[in-house]
Amino acid sequence: MAWFDTNARALPWRDSKDPYQIWLSEVILQQTRVDQGLPYFHVFLDRFPSVGHLASASIDDILLAWEGLGYYSRARNLHKAAKQILSEHGGKLPRTYREWLTLPGVGPYTAAAVSSIAFGEKEAVLDGNVMRVLSRVFAFEGIAQSSSGRKHLHSLASDILNRDNPGRHNEAMMELGALVCKPRNPSCGDCPVEKNCQARILGRVHEFPQKRPSKSVPHFDISVAIIRDDKNRILIQRRPEDAMLGGLWEFPGGKNEKTESFEETCIREVREELAIDVEAIRPIVSVKHAYSHFRITLHAFECRQISNAEPTTDLPLAWVLREELSNYAFPRANRKLLEIMSDEEASENGTLSQDED
Ligand code: SF4
Repeated sequence: MAWFDTNARALPWRDSKDPYQIWLSEVILQQTRVDQGLPYFHVFLDRFPSVGHLASASIDDILLAWEGLGYYSRARNLHKAAKQILSEHGGKLPRTYREWLTLPGVGPYTAAAVSSIAFGEKEAVLDGNVMRVLSRVFAFEGIAQSSSGRKHLHSLASDILNRDNPGRHNEAMMELGALVCKPRNPSCGDCPVEKNCQARILGRVHEFPQKRPSKSVPHFDISVAIIRDDKNRILIQRRPEDAMLGGLWEFPGGKNEKTESFEETCIREVREELAIDVEAIRPIVSVKHAYSHFRITLHAFECRQISNAEPTTDLPLAWVLREELSNYAFPRANRKLLEIMSDEEASENGTLSQDED
């Protein structure tokens, strides 16, 4: 903690002690670097300055503010948790670790972090940074990410927790992992626990944390249809709430089956999803994107409807003008596609696109 006192980064939620800001920062920073998450933190606080504002906002507004940050279930759960805080806690953020665990999207890490930092609960946090520090300091030979590995590391974290100032201690552990005990090239010479670090003493720092052998990442080809009506509006549909990227909007389409061309996938998926027939007029562009557990290539086709039926589906649909698409939250790969379409339209028209304007 003495090291933390002089080396901690100045971050907006650290001085405030406002539990809402601490909760928001913890959720935003899961799986996200601080420099990436910081602008989102400011946008969120600006648009939803209290838990009451968050609870009464529409999920569309929340997803739009979250767009680009990934792992969208975090945003949906923030919204649900804010509503629960209003209905069950009278709008006051809970104080105890156990109460935090009852909120949607709040697991042991977030519950321990928020309750210890904001309210002094004696609960040790175990995030990726803390796991790495502990694996090295104790030269832990098990697989850190396995359930038995996590259990063991969590009991070590609890054993060494400073019970007089658990929140500060947790913050210091996480900061040590983020700034000094980094995944590659840790700065052992600047480390306050160098003399106690077993991995350092044994000269085996790079062997910890021990990992499972890596698996190959699957890849999917996805075809999507850009369908316009006679008013030049584009058809978009909303993903189911319970699916990955749930609640976000996208162009109709789906996964390629190996026996068909990307164009045939596009036509088949539109028929299956919307019960209409289209023809693919031209390929627009292919966009690659990597998610955490798989990669996709999105193949977009300009399509024309050739049946008279109205598109029909259980999911919400919208016909939207090109310049209004920015009001809808899209997955990153769809957004990349829109940016390329803008550039293409600009070069065809000989004008700058809106984004470049
Ligand atoms: S001495 Fe090196 S490996 Fe050990 S905790 Fe410090 S930075 Fe990490």
